[in-house]
Amino acid sequence: MDSTVEKVDFTHMNEGEHAIGPQRGLNYETKLLWEYERTDDPAVDFEEPSSFRNRTGLDERKELGLPQVKEPTVVRHFVRLSTKNYGIDNGFFPLGSCTMKHNPRLNEKMARLAGFAHVHPEQPVETVQGALELMYDLQHTLGELTGLPAVSLAPAAGAHGELAGMMVIKRAHELAGNTHKTVVLCPDSAHGTNPATAVTCGYTVRTIDTKGTGRLTVEAFKEALGDGKDVAGMMVTNPNTCGLFETEILEIANMLHEAGGYFYCDGANFNALVGNIRPGDFGVDVMHLNLHKTFSTPHGGGGPGSGPICVTSDLAQFLPVPHVKKTQHGTYDLERERDHSLGRMKGFHGQFGMHVRALTYILSHGADGLKQASQDAVLSANYIMAKLKNHYHVPFEGPCMHECLLTDKKQKEQGVSTLDIAKGLVEYGIHPMTVYFPLTVQGAMLIEPTETEPKQEVDRFIAIMTRFAKQTEIGDTEIFHDYPLSTPRRRLDEVKAARQPKLKYSAAEQDE
Ligand SMILES: *Cc1c(COP(=O)(O)O)cnc(C)c1O
Repeated sequence: MDSTVEKVDFTHMNEGEHAIGPQRGLNYETKLLWEYERTDDPAVDFEEPSSFRNRTGLDERKELGLPQVKEPTVVRHFVRLSTKNYGIDNGFFPLGSCTMKHNPRLNEKMARLAGFAHVHPEQPVETVQGALELMYDLQHTLGELTGLPAVSLAPAAGAHGELAGMMVIKRAHELAGNTHKTVVLCPDSAHGTNPATAVTCGYTVRTIDTKGTGRLTVEAFKEALGDGKDVAGMMVTNPNTCGLFETEILEIANMLHEAGGYFYCDGANFNALVGNIRPGDFGVDVMHLNLHKTFSTPHGGGGPGSGPICVTSDLAQFLPVPHVKKTQHGTYDLERERDHSLGRMKGFHGQFGMHVRALTYILSHGADGLKQASQDAVLSANYIMAKLKNHYHVPFEGPCMHECLLTDKKQKEQGVSTLDIAKGLVEYGIHPMTVYFPLTVQGAMLIEPTETEPKQEVDRFIAIMTRFAKQTEIGDTEIFHDYPLSTPRRRLDEVKAARQPKLKYSAAEQDE
């Protein structure tokens, strides 16, 4: 693409050249619905009843100030807005730690079958045997894949699963009288939800240092463990947030268990392992899965998440309810209460539509297909690493797992940062990778191509990244600070947007 592409500038358009919103090259600028010119065109054909009387006994609702516009205007407004959301169906989305992979349309088709889509959560169990069987099969399959046989499908997201999982651990300690166990260990590179979950459950977090190595070492673990008396557990993701497999995990898990702590594995990165190894075999006691990452159900703007937890059989008694069980007659039933259960985490039975999609994905792949998908995800990431390692600094030696970590160390010397590179990718029509995460790595770029991205697209990404590096090397860097050039908005004040978000529309403020 020509790097001199002008910014699309709507501001020079005259009033009246556009009836609805400024537009150019079929690229529409979209106002807020409130900002549409108020016309006398009625949106609805009802006349105001002549003898209207408020009979609720409450104050009358104030005028909302919504514009009176015709239906096509409303429809266009929302359809245009819907096209402004970039997603995995628009293009490459190499967001590390998020596993933005293709969601096969077969999953969607199954989720829309009337027998799944139209069931009511309060229906008598004998009328929803198929739905319960599906949940039972998913529980069983996830138990097989993780090597952690007891599964709850209740949690509604990854972070929600973490909360459920840590509550299981807390409950186990409480019932064992371990009141002195008040500390949870987390590596410094952990996803923010890990320490946040531990603190939400009332624990104090003690950090395991991984800065020099990118991996957990027995030595650093021992230091954080101390005598281990106060340690309730450890929260670790494997592969970790640097995209590396934790090679000393077995020894670390053994030491943790000896100290009476539980091993919580953040399973959001399970896409790198499925079908190849089972976390239960490397010492994990509790793990959540992100169905909306590993098992290809939509996420982000695309739909609700689902974060089932898998635990050892010893911990099964503490899982949330309800839980689907098989009766001796071969039918399915809901276990709504259990003595030591931590209770309910979620209304009804979790995100059932996600359960349908995930099981469809699992069954349509089969054991060999799931294994292959993981291996291809790891291959893709290593391919990118191999192609870019001469152009970008690689902080930790590979091979990597499903994501590869680079930094801007070389480019920074020429004044080009990770942010500039990310904005450059936007200009070239590619969603940026995860930037500045993990926090322990300066100028981090965490790239996760996934197994579903076609090689041509991955090659295009590599070509653009290589071009950026070469441009920087020869000092052709000015353009980087202006990227992106052709988006309706250029560089936003991201700090202000995060710190002072405007969450409420006020017409008065707009006029100021
Ligand atoms: C995505 C992710 C989470 C949280 O999952 P949500 O569904 O977004 O709540 C937790 N840990 C890691 C490592 C993740 O990548």
